[in-house]
Amino acid sequence: MKYIFVTGGVVSSLGKGLAAAALGTLLEHRGLKVVLQKFDPYLNVDPGTMNPFQHGEVYVLNDGAETDLDLGHYERFTNCVLTRSNNSTSGQIYETVLAKERRGDYLGKTVQVIPHVTDEIKSRIYKLEKEQPADVLITEIGGTTGDIEGLPFLEAIRQFTHEVGAENVLFMHVTLVPFLKAAGELKTKPTQQSIAKLREIGIQPQVLICRCEHPLEEDVRQKLSLFCNVPLNAVIEARDVDNTIYEMPLVLQKEKLDETVCKILNLKTPQPDTTDWQRFVKRIVSPKKRVKIAVVGKYIDLQDAYKSIYESITHAAASHDCGIDLERVDAQEIESEGAEKFLKHSAGVVVPGGFGDRGVEGKIAAARFAREQGVPYLGLCLGMQVATIEFARHVCGFEGANSTEFDLETPHPVICLLEEQREVTNKGASMRLGTWPTVIRDGTLARQVYGTNEIFERHRHRYEFNMCYHDQFISNGFVIGGTSPDGTLVELIELRNHPWFLACQFHPEFKSKPNQPHPMFRGFIGASLAHLS
Ligand code: GLN
Repeated sequence: MKYIFVTGGVVSSLGKGLAAAALGTLLEHRGLKVVLQKFDPYLNVDPGTMNPFQHGEVYVLNDGAETDLDLGHYERFTNCVLTRSNNSTSGQIYETVLAKERRGDYLGKTVQVIPHVTDEIKSRIYKLEKEQPADVLITEIGGTTGDIEGLPFLEAIRQFTHEVGAENVLFMHVTLVPFLKAAGELKTKPTQQSIAKLREIGIQPQVLICRCEHPLEEDVRQKLSLFCNVPLNAVIEARDVDNTIYEMPLVLQKEKLDETVCKILNLKTPQPDTTDWQRFVKRIVSPKKRVKIAVVGKYIDLQDAYKSIYESITHAAASHDCGIDLERVDAQEIESEGAEKFLKHSAGVVVPGGFGDRGVEGKIAAARFAREQGVPYLGLCLGMQVATIEFARHVCGFEGANSTEFDLETPHPVICLLEEQREVTNKGASMRLGTWPTVIRDGTLARQVYGTNEIFERHRHRYEFNMCYHDQFISNGFVIGGTSPDGTLVELIELRNHPWFLACQFHPEFKSKPNQPHPMFRGFIGASLAHLS
């Protein structure tokens, strides 16, 4: 096995995860089997308890792990299917070390960051190697070089190199080369200092990925090469991509990143044929038609809060050779100004998942607008719950209907806590999580969209459709398109008298890929295009 460690320097948010994933794409196109892993130096056990303002989206894996959104990039850019072993945080590592200490596993020794924490970090790399054998393991170290909390990880990967042999390891540093307007030039000093920090620990990167807004001219490349001790061909320009993040593998391929990496690691592989990827990117960049889609949420200003949803829309749109004009609508603005103002020009409405009551009434109003106006509606998790509440209030006539998440006293708790959730008090990893089967009923929109009766989708929720209301809903034109195999949990809902209204309790956005768009998103974009014409 060959190991690539990806670190980041100068500033955060440089797109390390994207760079790691894009390298994964290229290596896969060279016929290699690739696995990706991320270490996050923060002390939360997982990002599941973090606010989207802090962390963006929580990405859910098949096994129910709540992980960093970079794992979403990994799954979308490569063929790997990840598990909780692919994302470790300092919180998890300390949790394990402390549990061992309490059990007495350390036999009376003083427990220390070195060697006990670093050993635990290394053991997670070895464990992954056993669980998911591959040709290349790409491990991303979260945070920025120089952070105190990142040090144990850097020390661990330094030791690791020693153990597996330097010829099998490559360090790739993603850095910022800023343009100073006043000087009219790109500046290399921050990168030099960031590399110096790594060298202090005993790590010498062999590849530099330079994020920049302007081209890296030859003299800048030479400077970086000389002062950072990296061969000239390993100074890689990663200029901001104009159109789509999916251009990143192609940008890096042009810079021969994959070739350089394979040379350093002595991997003999053919040149990659990225025609499929180029075709996909072309459909995003210059589509034949365009469609306006509204996403109604409460973290609408945050780039990362609905990441997988935006990506899924992109994949689905590309498959229709269609561009997306995304309207990010703040649910709270709908509350004060009405849905029509924001949604009247949209060909389709998406209501994503969420927690807490802020903006919920706006989302309910959005679902009502879509139902009444015959606009295609895609509801995801909370998006299914608000559509249910809306239907209860305005079609069934259940005044004050609500979810008990938002109103404990509601006379009509049409959405209520899952049985298994009633006694749960801990917040971390305590929801209904991960992949569960759904059985789809014949003759439904869901059946048509999926083309099959049994599906497996990822979940992250505490509340569910209240089956006590089943009959009243059905007699009013509500369709339960899919349930858990035992029929107790509603997974898919739709409306009898509507062109395209589909909502699910699960999160299809975690399973969409560039060239394999998710059927629900694909169906939704198709319906939105039809709604226009
Ligand atoms: N808050 C809702 C629940 O817990 C919806 C969750 C979600 O949208 N992910 O059931």
